[in-house]
Amino acid sequence: MRLNEIPVEGIPYDQLKIEKIPCTPAYIERAPELVPARARTVVINPNRTCMPLGAMWAVLGVHGAIPFVQGAQGCTTYVRYTFCRVFKEPATIATASFHEDAAVFGGRRNLVEGLRNLVVRYWPKLIGVVTTCSSEIIGDDMVSFIKMARARLRQEIGAEKADRIPIVLVNTPSFAGSHVEGYDRASRAFVETLATVKDKPNGKVNIIPGLLYPGDIREIKHLLRHMGVEGIVLFDISDPLDAPLRPPQKFPYEPPGGTPVEQIRDMANSLATFALQPHSGQAGARYLERKYGVRAVVGPPPVGVQGTDEFLSTLSAITGKPIPETLLDERGRLVDSLADTFHHTMMKKVAIMGDPDVVLGVTRFVLEMGMEPVALAGGTASKTFEHSMGEILAEAGYTGNPLILNGGDLFEFEEYLKKQPRLDLIIGNSKAVDISRELQVPLVRVGFPIYDRFGYQKRPIVGYRGGEILLAEIVNSILGHQYPDDRTHQL
Ligand code: SF4
Repeated sequence: MRLNEIPVEGIPYDQLKIEKIPCTPAYIERAPELVPARARTVVINPNRTCMPLGAMWAVLGVHGAIPFVQGAQGCTTYVRYTFCRVFKEPATIATASFHEDAAVFGGRRNLVEGLRNLVVRYWPKLIGVVTTCSSEIIGDDMVSFIKMARARLRQEIGAEKADRIPIVLVNTPSFAGSHVEGYDRASRAFVETLATVKDKPNGKVNIIPGLLYPGDIREIKHLLRHMGVEGIVLFDISDPLDAPLRPPQKFPYEPPGGTPVEQIRDMANSLATFALQPHSGQAGARYLERKYGVRAVVGPPPVGVQGTDEFLSTLSAITGKPIPETLLDERGRLVDSLADTFHHTMMKKVAIMGDPDVVLGVTRFVLEMGMEPVALAGGTASKTFEHSMGEILAEAGYTGNPLILNGGDLFEFEEYLKKQPRLDLIIGNSKAVDISRELQVPLVRVGFPIYDRFGYQKRPIVGYRGGEILLAEIVNSILGHQYPDDRTHQL
């Protein structure tokens, strides 16, 4: 007898779960040839979002910087709305406000006037110019346009003031990639435009966290602090996108924190660059290695025991600083939590979706818990995702042969899950909510975007302490689903 068939006195089981939408009994199996995304010309429920979003995320992580979007208002409004939903913070983003005339004659006038207005009204410390589908298709000559805009600014406010504001161009044609690639391109554009060699090394390490939340970045800084290592975090959104409310505030509003421009310049003089998420940040790390000989350490994401171990041991080897007792204690607590809960997680069937690095990092961690992945969907197609996933599965000795979707969409993911004989848990972002309801399987929210719950942007999943938080979330979701009426008090 299955657990949900055990009668409960008083209230029937079904009524305890009234918020769940049942699987439709009228489900008609789809034509198999239409299920794989590669066989279709239409994407159904995309597992990714727009490329400029990743670049705007990056720009907002620089102190006093404002993104300027060379495109239509919708390309900006959509991103601002998404950031507000996810971070619950205002995001100042300027737009060139393309209309029909710009689509026909190009966006030069919009950019020159727009940058001028942005400077005289907001006086940003840096402007990140982010292109969009329309400006890329029109073929706007952005390098020339930015020169013209700077010339106009020099005329109006003087050369000294105009030249004090760096302008970084990030080309993000959204039809060629996702938000993950937008962030990756931004990482390269910033170091290419700003990084400058000084006389001597600075003894620091560069950290490019990728699309991680403020809580994750704070956890990375915590690890650095305990290691006694000074770091430059590019793009540090931990304060700008999770700012304290401390009135009175100045107008125009400038969020606190973010990576100072001077620190980005100094990245050419560091010992190494850690791109914690290979798909979002590797381009910047590789550029610094090629151009300035700053060693690039690309991945793995520091999620779970092994992921964090590898990050700290490489950091220790590069800086010569030993891993302190405090962090070994944190590691021990995570291992202890794994031992305390393995009987709940062992052999549980799990499906994971989201950005490729989140899926890679979390898969490695759930394998440490003894869980059995059945489907792994990285929303941004990449050359390395399948190979990296194969290595992670082989390292754990896992022979379950899960479905690995490199790109693809959530329709394909969902159709596959519907045919599985058993599924205990889905791990992913808010885009998996409907799938979780349809399949009546709990969802552990991880990754970007999470817009249907509050507080996830403050909770880390990286590091040992982040691992404990994620483990607790997974275990409690399993318990909450299996014992919804809390009949068992001695688990
Ligand atoms: S996909 Fe293209 S058109 Fe749509 S919001 Fe993004 S940049 Fe704009």
